[in-house]
Order: sequence, then C-alpha cells, then structure tokens
Amino acid sequence: MFRLLFLPSLLSACLLGQTMPPEAERQLAREIYKELIEIKSGFTSGSTTPIAEAMAARLKAAGFPASDIFVGGAIPKKANLVVRYHGTGRQKPILLLAHTDVVEARREDWNMDPFQFIEKDGYFYGRGTGDDKAQAAVWIANLLRYKREGFKPDRDIIVALTADEEGGGPYNGVKWLLQNHRQLIDAEFCLNEGGWGEAVGGKKVTNNLQVSEKYVINFRFEVRNKGGHSSMPVADNAIYHLAGALDRVSKFAFPLKTNEVTKAYFAELAKGEKGAVGSDLAKVAEGSQDAMQRIAAASPAWNATLRTTCVATQLEGGHASNALPQLAAATVNCRVLPDESVDSVQSALQKIVADDQVSIKVMGEVTKSPASPLRPDVLKAAKRFTDTLWPGVPVIPIMVMGGTDGMYLRAAGTPTYGIQGFFMDRDDIRFHGRDERMGVKEFYEGQTFLYELVKALSKAGD
Ligand SMILES: [Zn+2]
Repeated sequence: MFRLLFLPSLLSACLLGQTMPPEAERQLAREIYKELIEIKSGFTSGSTTPIAEAMAARLKAAGFPASDIFVGGAIPKKANLVVRYHGTGRQKPILLLAHTDVVEARREDWNMDPFQFIEKDGYFYGRGTGDDKAQAAVWIANLLRYKREGFKPDRDIIVALTADEEGGGPYNGVKWLLQNHRQLIDAEFCLNEGGWGEAVGGKKVTNNLQVSEKYVINFRFEVRNKGGHSSMPVADNAIYHLAGALDRVSKFAFPLKTNEVTKAYFAELAKGEKGAVGSDLAKVAEGSQDAMQRIAAASPAWNATLRTTCVATQLEGGHASNALPQLAAATVNCRVLPDESVDSVQSALQKIVADDQVSIKVMGEVTKSPASPLRPDVLKAAKRFTDTLWPGVPVIPIMVMGGTDGMYLRAAGTPTYGIQGFFMDRDDIRFHGRDERMGVKEFYEGQTFLYELVKALSKAGD
C-alpha cells in the first residue's frame, strides 16, 4: 500500500528532475527571458544597450567583479555584453554566444504586442522568443547558477550577448569584438544559435548540431550599350545580352558533392527513412552521383545541401519605352559550399554566360568561413545529454543555407557549433515572422540541456 502510494510520485519527480531545472532556476530563467523580450531591440529602431546594461547589473548583483564584465559596442545604441566566469585555466575558454537584436515587429502584424512577454497555452510569445533571446536568457541564467553552485570549470566560460546579427550591418557585435577586443572572446571553441531541435507533429525527431554554413556571394551582371532610337533597333541590345546570360545560368547546375558534415547528415537521415528514399540517402553518404541526382531532385533543401546554387533575384534596365537600353543589370545571389572559392564560382559563371559584353562582378564584401571540424567532445556530449533528456532522438550534424555570426568566428579560427536543445515544430518555425513563440516546456528542457552540455564541455576529460 505504501509502495503503491509512494512510487508514482517518486517516479514522476525523478523523470521531471531529468528534464526540468529546479523551480528556482526556472523562475530565474523566465524572469531574464521576459526582461530581454520586453526591451525593444529591433535592429533598426531599437537598441541592445539596455539589454547589455540590465544583464551586467544582474551579474554584478550576483557577485561577478566589474573587471570580468565588459559593456561596449560600435556605436552607443549597439552595445554588447561580455562576461567571464573563471575556471582553473587548464584548458582554453569556451565561448557561449547569442545575439540580442531582433527583426523588427509591428503591432498590427501580430495577434498580440510583440514586445510583451506572454505565456499562453503552453507557449511563450514575443519577438525574439525563438531568435535568439531564449539562448541569451539561458546562457545568463545558467552562468548565475554555476556561480551559486560553486562550479569550478577547467576552462573559463565566456558569455557574449551581441548586437546587430540581423542587420548584417557595420555594427555587428561579433565582428566589432573580433576587431577591437579579440582577447575578450578568444576561445578554443564556441556554442551559438543555428542548430535547434526538430519536432514533427509533436514528436521530437532530431537535435541538430550546426557545424558549417554556406556563404553568400552577390554578383552584379551588367551590360552597357550605346543605345539609340527604338524605331531603328539593332541586334546588339543590352537587355537581350542580359536575358541570354540569365537564361544560361537558369539551365546550369553546379556539381553535386558532399563534405564531412553533409555526409554525416545524410547517413543519419537515412536511418530514419524507409524505402527508395532511405536507400538513396545512404548511397548519397557513400558518394553515389546517381543517388545525389535523385535526392537533389526530390527536395530544394537537399539540392541546396549538395551543391552551390546561384539564382537571379533582382533586375534593372532601360530608361525609356522608346529608347534602346543603355544599361541592363541583374543581381545573382549565390549560396556557396564552404570548400569552394569566390574565384571558382565567378569563373564558372563567366564560362556559362560566355558573353564578354556581360560583366560579372562581386558586390560588397564576402565573408567565407570554413566548416568547423566535428569535435569528438562536442558531438559526444551533445549525444549523451540528448539521449538522457529525449531517449532515442539522434544528434545530426548540419550545414545550414542561411548565415549566423558563427561565420565571423569560424573565419577568425574559432570552431563554432550551433546547438540549443530547444525543440520546435519543423513546419512552424516563426523566426522573423508573426506571433513568434517558444514552447514553455521546450524552453526549460533546453535550459537543462545547455546547463549539462556546457558543464561537461568545461571539465577536462569529459
Ligand atoms: Zn538569430
């Protein structure tokens, strides 16, 4: 009788203990999360400075010395926060990164105030709940917990909350810190956004570990011509030259290939797929060109994972309806595999276009970042805690098509891994969109996951 009454409550307490942080830690993380969401940090109209200051105040109140806290940025509105928690120094530091700016959100586009933190029906709502203030809140809450618990890591734990990731502008916090205060964020490796957990219909399917990203090159295709009166057309026409060039680009495809990361990705995917697709995915991982052709044709996302892509995105040309065009131009946006060079893409395009009247030039600055090596300790710890919290869910290394601030760190020689342990519905990702949200349970589970992961990665031999 005693056992019957006692056992269920003990069991549920144990299970809860595995995935949920203690009540007081949950409350602290929630309070920080709310504070972050309610500070308007839209990258054009808002400011990240009040966030950096609010977090600095919390850290000081918890006993972090002022000398371990840095607040500063490229301009007064775009401050970053960097804080260092000292370890024994046996190993080089770990850097925990999150950005605190958000994509703009207008009240009239949302069903609620985007800058009010609302908990409703099992979700936290607000701009930045997913991208990227959940991770920022958890980094700070967990750091305060390590300190309170007297945790002694073998490496310094550095948390950097940075500005202007979304804007991609000149005030980007990571870029600025690398250029001006490199020593503050110098680390053996970094954990960042970019890899989250995927759920389908409420079922958790993968916990993603982002280890590389494609990089972006924008090319300007331009044709200039002396023009003339449209009543006396000639064959040599700027618009026709450009149209021909773009048509040839549209029919061209870059070679299909895999790298260390995408090979591992397809091999893991193959385990969860049955039938012809499953066997093709496995063959892709083994390097079969035929299977790559079929898999690329089956999904735009798989196609983009297997090759560099280039697509026309903007057009301009002509100056009057009754004049032969003196200018025709287009922007061609390329997403390039990390192991391919700017020159190789440019010369491939020149060869396909095969028209020396079409000039092809790189627009703006290109940041090319290498893939981070698949560090065994990171992969092992991520797998271990994923399996403890969510038994049977695999950790899948991924290369993403979009970009994060990880590219600046990778380019500067700091391997960077996107990992969060926040699960969300694969078909309902609301980053940058309306009614952005994060599951309440998913948030706290991510808090536990990141707490354990960072703890393990900061101890020698773990
Ligand atoms: Zn983000």
